[in-house]
Amino acid sequence: MHEALYWESAAEQKVKCLLCPHECLIPEGRQGICRIRKNLNGVLYSFVYGHPAAIHADPVEKKPLYHFYPGKQILSVGTFGCNFRCSFCQNFHLSQKEYSSFGHAFVPPEDLSQQAIGLKGNTGVAFTYNEPTVFYEYMAETAGFVQTAGMKNVMISNGFISAEPLEKLIPLMDAFNIDLKSFRDSFYRKVTGGSLAPVLQTVKTIVKAGKHLEITHLVIPGLNDDPAELTELVAWMANELGKGIPLHLSRYFPAYHLDQPPTPLETISHFATLAKEKLDFVYSGNVGSSEFSDTWCPECHNRLIVREGYQTLVTGLTPEGRCSKCGANIPGVW
Ligand code: SF4
Repeated sequence: MHEALYWESAAEQKVKCLLCPHECLIPEGRQGICRIRKNLNGVLYSFVYGHPAAIHADPVEKKPLYHFYPGKQILSVGTFGCNFRCSFCQNFHLSQKEYSSFGHAFVPPEDLSQQAIGLKGNTGVAFTYNEPTVFYEYMAETAGFVQTAGMKNVMISNGFISAEPLEKLIPLMDAFNIDLKSFRDSFYRKVTGGSLAPVLQTVKTIVKAGKHLEITHLVIPGLNDDPAELTELVAWMANELGKGIPLHLSRYFPAYHLDQPPTPLETISHFATLAKEKLDFVYSGNVGSSEFSDTWCPECHNRLIVREGYQTLVTGLTPEGRCSKCGANIPGVW
């Protein structure tokens, strides 16, 4: 265990965690909503610091990041715990479990960064699988070593993080994928246990800081598949973030507590068509190859990147990130 950042003492040996907007008030001997930050004798500790539960070399496309070093691999790391309680979580075996050190060796941040540095053809480290905010201390220290070595850091997150820790983290990160689960606060409160406004603020802060951002939106039948909601979401993105932010519309499959059938392919296709009216780069996810798998120049419709599953072929993009046909600047980190 490792003493946590961002907390303050409260009455009766309680501590108040300030890392995410839940601001859990945690009695002695208890843990916060994320289950892995615990009050011991009036001090808040992270129980997952140095204890990755999953480490894999993944294609960056799997994060998903489509405008960030296409075709490269990235060492991907997660622990246990999450500050959300999504009934449809695809990684519930990590996110909703209490931390147990059984079977998980201690890997200090410097050692983890050395794994990334020593991996042939690797871009850097992706903090992913469970919610990286809850292992903030481990992520930030590892990212510091990775950055010093000249490699890249990315965070795949639900965006439910408080302003100060986010601002301190941003200089260490090169890219973010934020999961915007719905454009309805009622959805966030009922289905995730969080709220919408802090997530919107997070993505605005990332864009304002000039960091690369992509957004994922999982479309779930009966929960967030109203086209009016999607229309509002993409209009907000276009107005507040800019139409060049890539949007991944992902197909839901039954997982954890939700067993309703997968999202119909026609819904994803229809939503992607709607989103393209406002945004330049819209992709479908979890559907195999589709007309929304590839990247096209928004100016001249030249095909820039071809994707088949996680196989990627850059066909029409210069090394500087310009369309090879018309010279348009394509947003991303290439
Ligand atoms: S990070 Fe965990 S303990 Fe801290 S406020 Fe969020 S849910 Fe609560």
